[in-house]
Amino acid sequence: MDAGERLQRLYRQAERGDLVHFLSGAEPGSDEALFAFADRVRREHVGDAIHLRAIVEFSSFCRNDCLYCGLRRSNRGLPRLRMPAEEIVAQCRRAEALGFRTIVLQSGEDPFYGREAVVDLVRRVKGATGLAVTLAVGERDEEEYRTFFDAGADRYLLKHETSDRALYERLDPGLSHERRIACLRVLKRIGFQTGSGIMVGLPGQTLESVADDILLFRDLDIDMIGCGPFIPHPATPLAAEPAGSEELTYRVVALARIVTRDTHIPATTALAVTAGDAGRASALCRGANVVMPNVTPQPWRRAYEIYPNKGRTEVFDPALLERLRRTARQLGRFIAEDAGDRLPSGRRLS
Ligand code: SF4
Repeated sequence: MDAGERLQRLYRQAERGDLVHFLSGAEPGSDEALFAFADRVRREHVGDAIHLRAIVEFSSFCRNDCLYCGLRRSNRGLPRLRMPAEEIVAQCRRAEALGFRTIVLQSGEDPFYGREAVVDLVRRVKGATGLAVTLAVGERDEEEYRTFFDAGADRYLLKHETSDRALYERLDPGLSHERRIACLRVLKRIGFQTGSGIMVGLPGQTLESVADDILLFRDLDIDMIGCGPFIPHPATPLAAEPAGSEELTYRVVALARIVTRDTHIPATTALAVTAGDAGRASALCRGANVVMPNVTPQPWRRAYEIYPNKGRTEVFDPALLERLRRTARQLGRFIAEDAGDRLPSGRRLS
């Protein structure tokens, strides 16, 4: 069976074996066929729009101790900063003035931001702007999630990181894989547009488990899928581990597109950190349709160092928006003007 036939089969009915085949990249020419097919599926199912989401990282406090993350509580060298609510609202207004239609409010699992504080924040942002609000504030119970939704939050991001339960629980001590998946199911049930994602190239991760991650995105009907390469942080126990590969990350992006079809898939910040603007453009040609610029100002930006170099630019550079517009034009694409809800297209490749 040639790569084209196998891709058609994957598109119709994804199986672990075909996913592993393309993830391995072992067959000569399979990457080219995969990327071209993913780009075609992207065009058919979500069109040529590139959606922008502005990220505000508002607290670097975290009660968890994930082995791969610079925000882990055991990292005593990281400044812990919490942006005041007025400042968060001001940043949201600024993002809206720059043309963003979606804001992602992201933090570590900060106990200060309990139910009332998050609800208050969502209400303030929704009252002050017309932005779609995406929350990324970690694991909560169902009642809290419902309260956030009722307060006006539109979307929620909670990466499952890896479908390999043993690996997850080794890398995220104290967290339960079962609970994480249960949280994603609850978020979907409540009505959030729900985002998940993985890190590609985690120490101990297998291609089989990455294939399972892609099938899990489909089975949970995840709306937004973020896949970035693992980048070792020097202040974590994984400092000496090799970084995840960009090529494998592109394959995951492409396969996630083919299997889930009409989801939103960002060219992730982690990919832009390792491969720059060119990495972002490559992902956009291989299935991605979203870019998430980080608009967090200093000093909060520097404090939110999940992986090294993430905060290297001193401030958000509005010229990035012009560069993205230019990239979009060069790719025959355009920057969307709307909030970019997931709209199942129901289209099919002929
Ligand atoms: S990955 Fe998230 S939960 Fe884990 S330590 Fe980092 S910020 Fe906290």
